[in-house]
Amino acid sequence: MISPEYARSQIERLSGLKKYPKKTVAALELAKALEAAATEAAAEQYITDCVGNQRVCPTPADIRAYFRGPMTSPAVADCPRCHGTGWRSVTRKDAHGNLVDASAPCRCGTE
Ligand SMILES: [Zn+2]
Repeated sequence: MISPEYARSQIERLSGLKKYPKKTVAALELAKALEAAATEAAAEQYITDCVGNQRVCPTPADIRAYFRGPMTSPAVADCPRCHGTGWRSVTRKDAHGNLVDASAPCRCGTE
């Protein structure tokens, strides 16, 4: 997490992009989403990428999705099924009817 002040200062750099919110409250939502960045450097890098490579301002959902990464459900650290990895092991039948070990997303972060 980064400070709200730093997030706001970075979000202002997006103001030249299309669809940048005209209302302050909407811009603040972008800043709130950016606060999910782990470090100020990560936030700055993301905004630099946006300004340099995109024409349209990202939405709060875009920003949150970027910093959340590919894992969509935060796993529970002491989950008995996945042990905090977000993936539990399951046994599935393959195309030949043989049982194979596989992994499946654990729902512990969403329950
Ligand atoms: Zn789990």
